[in-house]
Amino acid sequence: MAILTEVKQKEWQAAVNYVTEVYETVKKRNPGESEFHQAVKEIFDSLVPVFAKHPKYMEQSILERISEPERMITFRVPWVDDQGKPQVNRGFRVQFNSAIGPYKGGLRFHPSVNASIIRFLGFEQIFKNSLTGQPIGGGKGGSDFDPKGKSESEIMKFTQSFMTELAKHIGPDLDVPAGDIGVGAREIGYMFGQYKRLRGAHEAGVLTGKGIGYGGSLARTEATGFGTVYFVEEMLKDQGLSFNGSTVVVSGSGNVSIYAIQKATQLGAKVVACSDSNGYIYDKNGINLDTVKRLKEVERKRISEYVTEHPEARYVEGCSGIWTIPCDIALPCATQNEINEINAKVLVANGVKAVGEGANMPSSLEAIEVFLNNKVLFAPAKAANAGGVAVSALEMAQNSMRLAWTFEEVDAKLHEIMVNIYKNSVKAAEEYGFPGNLVVGANIAGFLKVADNMIAQGVV
Ligand code: GLU
Repeated sequence: MAILTEVKQKEWQAAVNYVTEVYETVKKRNPGESEFHQAVKEIFDSLVPVFAKHPKYMEQSILERISEPERMITFRVPWVDDQGKPQVNRGFRVQFNSAIGPYKGGLRFHPSVNASIIRFLGFEQIFKNSLTGQPIGGGKGGSDFDPKGKSESEIMKFTQSFMTELAKHIGPDLDVPAGDIGVGAREIGYMFGQYKRLRGAHEAGVLTGKGIGYGGSLARTEATGFGTVYFVEEMLKDQGLSFNGSTVVVSGSGNVSIYAIQKATQLGAKVVACSDSNGYIYDKNGINLDTVKRLKEVERKRISEYVTEHPEARYVEGCSGIWTIPCDIALPCATQNEINEINAKVLVANGVKAVGEGANMPSSLEAIEVFLNNKVLFAPAKAANAGGVAVSALEMAQNSMRLAWTFEEVDAKLHEIMVNIYKNSVKAAEEYGFPGNLVVGANIAGFLKVADNMIAQGVV
């Protein structure tokens, strides 16, 4: 990292030592949690200029405090499958930080879910939520349950059992879960029903991403994907570029991807590829979003089915090959660490101009280095995918007021929030000596608000 001219070498070194020491403690305290270590390292390294300039945060042991969750809940989720056999999964909820509002963050149902994944997602959520400017703290949860291949009744039984335990720990002013990978409108509906039954009350604000008929917000479904594109659009605009006429690759084909494809296409881009966990499709004329939507949202089929309806397209097994497709803009919207150093180098060699992270931590630390060193415009996840949780906070606000805004109102607020996140990240990056580096800018802007409010509330 370059050294700020106005900061003395000694102060910089003290900050580096502090960050290194606390990072080692975090690693020791959470052995084997590689995803959590990665998320912590990215944030900690970005904060060196803050500690060099303001030693008060070191005096307040802020990193030691912010990297330890306020609470981490692990629980058994028993359920009976369609054959009558009892099954057991593991449930998690991390209540990471409540300095600026109730814990807020999604639930992920995926076989890869473990303590490391939940802790990294919860940690990221603290800073992301802070960036939205909304009063929401950081939390996350989920289970290693695999929804793939399960029947409707198995999904309902599992989800109800999961909520039976989770309900003891959440509430509209305490902790407000939502969706993430494997948890969409159907699962939120079943969880809301079970929570309502257990509480004996209709507490709309306990979950977000609800159906419109029982307290959901218009534009919440679209929010993460739209938000990512709004953020990238702003970043491109600053360099005299735009989505119009560009070739775009979007990984994934879930909720984030679908609405990123929709908005990018609306802005004049041609989206030529998307994927699922088995492989990717490439359609040089631009993919047909209606087909993707039907396959994924309605029929719950694999993306490989796309080529039977569109024989001009190509399906390729394996997902990482998607990054070999030449494009102007890459939007990784699938999952963590889907872009490694090699993928990043190939993207750069093929002339990528901008990368916008719709998923959580989709680029490895080495991949981020490659993008930044090659002057690729890089929109980090915490900033670029904050639109989903931002509209979740708007859903909570509507629930508290017992009012519902129109799609246009919510979409306009989302747009404004994304523009503000971009501006605040740019400003923080400049102020702390890393102009144009949105990784540093977003991390610092997100951190300062949480840290200052933690200090204001004393050692709790
Ligand atoms: N799971 C989403 C995220 O990663 C949304 C969370 C929410 O709406 O609470 O931010």
